Amino acid sequence: MSGDEGWDTIVVGAGAGGGAAAYGLTRRGRSVLLLDAGPRFDPSTDYPLSGADWELREFPQKPGSTGQVTFAPGQKLGREPLLASGSRGWGPLANGATRLMDGYRHVRGIGGTTLHFTGEAHRIHPAAMKMKTRFGVAADWPFDYGALEPYYVEAEELIGVAGPATQGARWRSRGFPLPPHPLSYASQTLGKGAKALGLDWQANSRAALSLPWNGRPPCNYCGACNKGCPIGDKGSADVTFIAAALQTGRCTVRAESPVIRIEAGPNDGIAAVLVGRPDGSIERIAAKQVVLACGAVETPRLLLASEGLANESGEVGQNFMDTLFVNVGALHPEPQHSRRGLPSDAIAWDFNAPDAIPGVIGGCRFYNASGEAELGGLAAFALRAVPGWGRDHAKSVRDLWGHALHVGAIGEQLPNRESRVDLDPDARDRFGVPLARIASALAEADIARLRFMVEKSRELLAASGARRIYESYSSWDWFAATHVFGTCRMGDDPASSVVDAFGQSHRWRNLWIADASVFPSSGGGEAPSLTIEALALRTAARMASI
Ligand SMILES: Cc1cc2nc3c(=O)[nH]c(=O)nc-3n(C[C@H](O)[C@H](O)[C@H](O)COP(=O)(O)OP(=O)(O)OC[C@H]3O[C@@H](n4cnc5c(N)ncnc54)[C@H](O)[C@@H]3O)c2cc1C
Repeated sequence: MSGDEGWDTIVVGAGAGGGAAAYGLTRRGRSVLLLDAGPRFDPSTDYPLSGADWELREFPQKPGSTGQVTFAPGQKLGREPLLASGSRGWGPLANGATRLMDGYRHVRGIGGTTLHFTGEAHRIHPAAMKMKTRFGVAADWPFDYGALEPYYVEAEELIGVAGPATQGARWRSRGFPLPPHPLSYASQTLGKGAKALGLDWQANSRAALSLPWNGRPPCNYCGACNKGCPIGDKGSADVTFIAAALQTGRCTVRAESPVIRIEAGPNDGIAAVLVGRPDGSIERIAAKQVVLACGAVETPRLLLASEGLANESGEVGQNFMDTLFVNVGALHPEPQHSRRGLPSDAIAWDFNAPDAIPGVIGGCRFYNASGEAELGGLAAFALRAVPGWGRDHAKSVRDLWGHALHVGAIGEQLPNRESRVDLDPDARDRFGVPLARIASALAEADIARLRFMVEKSRELLAASGARRIYESYSSWDWFAATHVFGTCRMGDDPASSVVDAFGQSHRWRNLWIADASVFPSSGGGEAPSLTIEALALRTAARMASI
């Protein structure tokens, strides 16, 4: 089908949201052109982990797979020794005076950032969707948990999420499709500490198969989820939603096809998208319906670069929320076989409700981060955890290898007017489109939440028997966002939101958004992809019904 003959819908961005939207539309009989700025990845050839250098490998870079962004100057820092990032071996990470604006580690490609995500699969806490009404902060979601629940079920079924029977406030109309993964040795040790502190340490729900599912094999516990899953059990968007969309025969996927502009037409409609080709030329593709799913940084960039399209409220790019995180590592006197098992296999939801942390609004959760700490190999362990040189160093490394335990915490960041995405006035990409510029500032409530997160992480390590803390990292002095939200908030009021409760632009009726940019609040540290996918399925169902 060529452009002007017309696909029913053009979906821009093939990550969590775009993949799920394409699946939701094609399974309801609509034809979809799925465009992504980045390349294709082939798990069997692009993620080889069998070589001697496996430990040093990161998620592979291919031409065009790394987006370009710039950063506004980092926030000025006060004195918070507990929150400062650094390790015994490497020393302090930041300069102590300003927040290090270092990273936005997202992937451009077919599958988007889910290609190198860990694969935690969480539903949002129902109370975290009503932050304005209940606590006077952020904004309410324009519907409640019950409206999203059927789409969570649909997403979990397609992915093959493995999880426990219940997860407290997150009620379920159907159990997880697969049983939870067994807890690793490190998680069992942390579980004893959690129990001593009165915490409910339980199996995490994971987009990693515990049994064969839809032709994909179960996880082999190689621990390298963030380096790219070579066997395809991790539920990234390429092997789940996009594969299923392709199976319908109604989805055309085009890699290396950045949309550089959305063209407005008459009668408040979108007429076309302009796509940059690898040779530098530009193609115009006429559009009936357009779904933007470029993520919470690139979606507002594209709208702002299209003469501020859909920005009647002035809210495009505002309310940017990033990942409030803590990661503390300590050595246990006994071996913990730290590199074994599934990363992030266990979690404590005790402080996840918006009012669960004493004295501060907004939740967080704690998890076993031992597998995610990039200490799977000896080199990183020797450099970060055991400083020194020569024979003594070699002996310490031999004695302590496998003794590391890591506790991670992820928490809510509340939106504020200093955190936003806008267009960089000076930097442009090769098609002349201004780059996105990220500004992020933590408010006092965020810093208070971070203090709680680091203190509780240390308590949990100590209660588990870990003694020597050798590193501690937090987003107080280090912006390295993995989860990003906001920037095209959904809501009922066109004056204060960009899209309505179904992701449809208040003004441009054939323009929809289906990614993390529509979140009015971030939740209490839940990993976002499952919610993004459920939202995108809900948007697709709505589009197909009108
Ligand atoms: C290290 C790491 C670990 C993570 N772990 C987890 C986890 O365990 N669980 C979880 O739920 N989440 C996790 N996340 C976050 C998760 O990956 C993202 O929240 C999710 O992928 C966001 O989905 P999205 O659809 O909004 O954007 P993305 O998945 O980033 O997809 C956006 C896509 O749009 C494309 N695009 C952008 N601009 C254009 C354009 N102009 N034209 C065409 N295409 C464009 C990009 O190339 C990209 O492929 C992790 C993230 C990182 C970095």
